[in-house]
Amino acid sequence: MPDKKFEEFIKGLEELIIKEGFNLDGWSDQKIFLERAFKAGRKAQREDMVNEEIADKHRTTFMTDLEKQAVEFMKVNGHEVGNGDLVAQANEVAFDLAMEEELARGVMFEFCGDEYCEDCKGWDGKSDRCDCGDFRVYWTYDGCDFRNMVIYALAETL
Ligand SMILES: [Zn+2]
Repeated sequence: MPDKKFEEFIKGLEELIIKEGFNLDGWSDQKIFLERAFKAGRKAQREDMVNEEIADKHRTTFMTDLEKQAVEFMKVNGHEVGNGDLVAQANEVAFDLAMEEELARGVMFEFCGDEYCEDCKGWDGKSDRCDCGDFRVYWTYDGCDFRNMVIYALAETL
C-alpha cells in the first residue's frame, strides 16, 4: 500500500488535473494519468510536479510483488533501474553477477558436453571455445529468475 504522504501527493495531482480542466477518466491507466498530470502541471506552470520522481512513485503503485523485488534487487546491487521490463533487468544483473563470481575463481570450468572432448582442460569462462577447441561454450542459467538463478556452462551444439 502506498504511504499516506504518497496518497496525498497523488490526490494533489488529481486535484490539479481537475482544476486545470482535464478529467480523471481512465486514471488507473498510469500512462493516461501521467500524461494528464504532465499537461495539467504545464498548464499550471508547475512542472516541478511532473518530474521523474513522480513517474517513479506512480509506477511503484502499479508494480507486482515480483517487480518490486526486482527493483530492490537492483538497488541492493548498485544498479540503476531502467525503463521497461523490470524482472528482465534484474535477471540480467543477477546473471552478470553470477558470471563475475564464477570468473573470479580463475579456474577452468567443466561444461555440459565436455564428456565429448578428449584431453580437454575445460573452458575459461570467457573464450568462444573450450580449451581443445571442439566446442563453442557459453554461460546459461537455471531457475526462473533473479531470485534463484544458477548459472552453468553449456556447449552450444548440445
Ligand atoms: Zn574441449
